[in-house]
Amino acid sequence: FKRIPLPKESKNELFQLGDTFNDMMDLLETNYEKQEQFVSNASHELKTPLTVIKAYAELLKRRGNTEPKLFDESVEAIHSEAIRMIEMTQELLMLARHDEKWKVEIETISLSELIEASVISFREGFKREINLIREQQVTVKTDPNKLKQLFYILMENAHKYSSESIKVIVRTDQRNAVIEIIDRGIGIPGSELEKVFDRFFRVDEARTRKSGGFGLGLPLAKDIANAIGAEIRLDSVEGQGTTAKILLKLVNSH
Ligand code: ADP
Repeated sequence: FKRIPLPKESKNELFQLGDTFNDMMDLLETNYEKQEQFVSNASHELKTPLTVIKAYAELLKRRGNTEPKLFDESVEAIHSEAIRMIEMTQELLMLARHDEKWKVEIETISLSELIEASVISFREGFKREINLIREQQVTVKTDPNKLKQLFYILMENAHKYSSESIKVIVRTDQRNAVIEIIDRGIGIPGSELEKVFDRFFRVDEARTRKSGGFGLGLPLAKDIANAIGAEIRLDSVEGQGTTAKILLKLVNSH
């Protein structure tokens, strides 16, 4: 996107032509960036449900015939991930056509159940040990599909940047429902904690390159959080691990 250098002093027709050309270049560049952003967001988001579907399909192939319970569980998981993918695709198409903000559908849901189901799918999809500790009755008002998407992004980071088991806690404090995702992995240096929410930012490329990310997960997570009334907090100690928290307002705070 080369611009024509224009002299400051002259304002003749040729200058105006050059000026218009430069405006066009600006416009092209903005659209190009938007498209790139769209493609990278889309790929990032479709990868997780596909990983879960692939794992369940493999399970079905190996043991589906002989284990009816496993058959039911796998079909259920594949079905719900497929629905999520369809919704996501529709949303992405909408985003591509109109560049609109995401459509958010707020419902009153049981957070405990949503996180439990998501943990089970993640465990299967990514073959990771996950300890879930949860309070029984945690009710929130939010968009369940978007929350799941957000939860998966943070879970995938815990998975990529640690090797021991991941702990997930669903609890409440006075005002909020809190989901904590705790890993004992490589951690993030304090000086970088702010920057990880910038697009394409990755801590120490050499250290994290093998995990194959693009630095798009957390910026997307932040956008989703803003859209559904959630807040994300990251605490991390380099070399010890990271705790990611999602905070949501409680519906009936006691
Ligand atoms: P990526 O696709 O690179 O993981 P993200 O936007 O999700 O992109 O994260 C940005 C960067 O923040 C990562 O490249 C990594 O350096 C760091 N990071 C995020 N989550 C964690 C975590 N749980 N542990 C250690 N580092 C993390």
